[in-house]
Amino acid sequence: MEEEIYCIGCGAKIQTDKPKELGYTPQSALEKGLESGEVYCQRCFRLRHYNEIQDVALTDDDFLRLLNELGKTDALIVNVVDIFDFNGSIIPGLHRFIGDNPVLMVGNKVDILPKSLKKGRLTQWMRERAHEEGLRPVDVLLTSARKPNEMQELLAKIEEYRDGRDVYVVGVTNVGKSTLINQIIKQTAGVQDLITTSQFPGTTLDKIEIPLDDGHYLIDTPGIIHRHQMAHYLGAKDLKIIAPHKEIKPKVYQLNAGQTLFLGGLARFDFIQGDRSSFIAYVSNDLSIHRTKLEKADEFYQKHVGGLLQPPRPDEVDEFPELVRFEFSIKEKTDIVFAGLGWVTVSKPAVIAGWAPKGVDVLTRKSLI
Ligand code: GDP
Repeated sequence: MEEEIYCIGCGAKIQTDKPKELGYTPQSALEKGLESGEVYCQRCFRLRHYNEIQDVALTDDDFLRLLNELGKTDALIVNVVDIFDFNGSIIPGLHRFIGDNPVLMVGNKVDILPKSLKKGRLTQWMRERAHEEGLRPVDVLLTSARKPNEMQELLAKIEEYRDGRDVYVVGVTNVGKSTLINQIIKQTAGVQDLITTSQFPGTTLDKIEIPLDDGHYLIDTPGIIHRHQMAHYLGAKDLKIIAPHKEIKPKVYQLNAGQTLFLGGLARFDFIQGDRSSFIAYVSNDLSIHRTKLEKADEFYQKHVGGLLQPPRPDEVDEFPELVRFEFSIKEKTDIVFAGLGWVTVSKPAVIAGWAPKGVDVLTRKSLI
């Protein structure tokens, strides 16, 4: 029987096959650790050596336990969401767990949005969506964990709203929570020193406590996996293609009814009925878009998925979920959102269909731009 080994940093049971879960350490690191008698999980190793926080995902039950804890604390809750995948960022039922604590909603990755997008409109939209979810944030703001100069406002707001209390940072996986916290650590030098010198100030299985200068803590909690994110159907290489790294350059298509756009092999947009007009695609600049005739689109997809239409890659096609169709009748300027991938803006009345891999949502929202 295999011997059970525990991380000496956080106490997690060491495992070598699930990189996103608790206690993961690469096999080679485990062997080295065993030789020296000090086995750390990768999360603790990175925290110790690089002052870098790496998120782990929790199972639903553990996550519920953690959420329950939130209501019992007196703290500011910072809910990080990915503005590129707002629906995929929602923590289901968060409002039921937070008690009387204020929530600051932070929309991350603002760097990838086209400059033409009005930020006020986006925060207003986020606020409305939050209300629909039963959440009443004290404030909604946009930031980018990639751009230190975008972080100042966030730091000031956290200071203002925490009002001498602890801060819990929560978010589903992939929203950029770790990147954001790492940036916060870098920006607040005093804290950085504390982390370097101390032996994991408060790393436990399910959270990392970063000391603030008034005796309180900024607490990083693990993310929960949101199954409807496109990210879960793709490999690491494909994720690089679909996750925008730079400001998105909108792509404009003049289409007649009866035309189809393929977003790689991941999604499909059919213009079924309506006057000729322009459609604007907002997706990663690296994702290629193909235009074809609607009547030939099924055949085209069968023939080219994994080839001309990538991702998925040729070796992923067999495992890749089939595309599922959602039909919409559009009356005013509307975004058709392919969760985690981007959106297509429809500016005139039309009947359209959006297709996404089974399990991934296609939805509409009032146009952001
Ligand atoms: P976590 O699972 O929420 O901790 O997410 P990570 O911090 O691991 O980030 C998920 C992905 O989003 C990574 O590929 C990051 O590089 C990327 N990311 C994080 N913050 C930003 C940001 O502000 N802008 C952009 N463009 N990408 C970001």
